[in-house]
Amino acid sequence: MPLLPALQDPAGPPAAREAVRFGEQSLNYAQLAAAADALAARIADAGRVAVWAAPVPETVVAVVAALRAGVPAVPLNPKTGERELAHIVADSAPSTVLAAADDVLPPALAALTRVDVDVDTGEPARSASSFAEPSPESPALIVYTSGTTGPPKGAVLPRRAIAATLDALEDAWRWTGDDVLVHALPLFHVHGLILGVLGPLRRGGSVRHLGRFSTEGVTRELESGGTMLFGVPTMYHRIAEALAGPSASDGLAKALAGARLLVSGSAALPVHDHERIAAATGRRVIERYGMTETLMNTGVRADGEPRPGTVGAPLRGVELRLVEEDGSALADPASIGEIQVRGPNLFTGYLNRPDATAAALTADGWFRTGDMATLDPDGYVRIVGRKATDLIKSGGHKIGAGEIENALLDHPGVREAAVTGEPDPDLGERIVAWVVPADPSSPPPADELAGHVAAQLSPHKRPRTVRYLDALPRNDLGKIMKRSLHG
Ligand code: ATP
Ligand code: MG
Repeated sequence: MPLLPALQDPAGPPAAREAVRFGEQSLNYAQLAAAADALAARIADAGRVAVWAAPVPETVVAVVAALRAGVPAVPLNPKTGERELAHIVADSAPSTVLAAADDVLPPALAALTRVDVDVDTGEPARSASSFAEPSPESPALIVYTSGTTGPPKGAVLPRRAIAATLDALEDAWRWTGDDVLVHALPLFHVHGLILGVLGPLRRGGSVRHLGRFSTEGVTRELESGGTMLFGVPTMYHRIAEALAGPSASDGLAKALAGARLLVSGSAALPVHDHERIAAATGRRVIERYGMTETLMNTGVRADGEPRPGTVGAPLRGVELRLVEEDGSALADPASIGEIQVRGPNLFTGYLNRPDATAAALTADGWFRTGDMATLDPDGYVRIVGRKATDLIKSGGHKIGAGEIENALLDHPGVREAAVTGEPDPDLGERIVAWVVPADPSSPPPADELAGHVAAQLSPHKRPRTVRYLDALPRNDLGKIMKRSLHG
């Protein structure tokens, strides 16, 4: 089956069905297919293309065209700074950049051939593509990781991995062409591009992109036919805050209650926000866990039990295991281990980084995620945090930052919290809490927060140091950049 059958199969969804909408701009299946085919013909010999991935229909046309032509595409974050952009362009070496006609491109892209994307080709038609379907192993997209733990690395994603992950999500979520996805994520990462755009297009369904996230936009789109919402935890936090607000949240609560599926991913959803949304709407957000290199690994199924603090069980086709630091099987099955995964969802490797690729994969094909977790008895995965930044070894204990963050967020005086470890002569590492107070004029005292964590969890998990901030450093997906917290 081709990667996007709905765009070339005349027996697929009705040609007039909306494929994507951004604000007032909408493309139906026939229009998208025609625009993408016309562009595919222009870039067939480009070798590799970069896509200026602003939240506009041109980005969708560009990516679909590259997929049809079998030309690997590198989605670029338009907000990336000049130096990082220059690094990505030098690393991925595209010949061409695809952009909307009115985009102003930065100097880092000056050496590339520019092709303006035309979304309106005037002759909407959906035809069996004149391009042969590329082989399943050929690179479809090169997506750069979020750069949370170091400089972003280019993950080479074959068509096989994209198809496998989207079909596993179809299985888990009963995802059909009748679903209308409400979308407000950026289009240059896996979450927003592969799940949020290629997901609906593979199924023959619709995407409505808000451009910018707002609770009003979510309410409006869910009230007018949206069936699913994909978001990152910062969006669900804003939803939880709005639901707790004095007024105007009635429509939001009702809209969320009426959705088929509310999905969170890209980072851990704080239990406090999960519970507040459940209390106000009667609906539980479900979590899924994935990475650029592996696409989706686990998820709560549409008919499964959304258990706060867990990311569900391995998706169809994905093998998952926890291992000790040396890679051996977990001695105690109830303890914390590093997640390794294997399956058709995996990337082929990092671009130009054979060293990093070799370090990430075991000889028999397991990917070392660097994420630490425990397993519930029924196979649900509880992510504790990242090995590099979230696992604190203090006083002989292995402690995950996540549960301490959840405990802190449960304190009424705390708006945002991040927990790290710092070297300590007695304890090995000392637990440090970085706290954004709910009311900056009266931050909760450190001993009160330590007591709160000790009472909720256990005394050895209490923070020894509390540092107060106005905001936590976050990237464009709302992920906390812990590496910039340390002085
Ligand atoms: P880099 O690899 O460049 O440091 P990154 O790991 O943040 O950045 P991504 O591939 O975008 O880049 O993110 C994958 C990571 O996001 C996972 O390894 C995991 O730590 C985290 N993650 C994704 N989904 C979840 C989730 N539902 N709960 C907790 N963590 C999650
Ligand atoms: Mg990573």
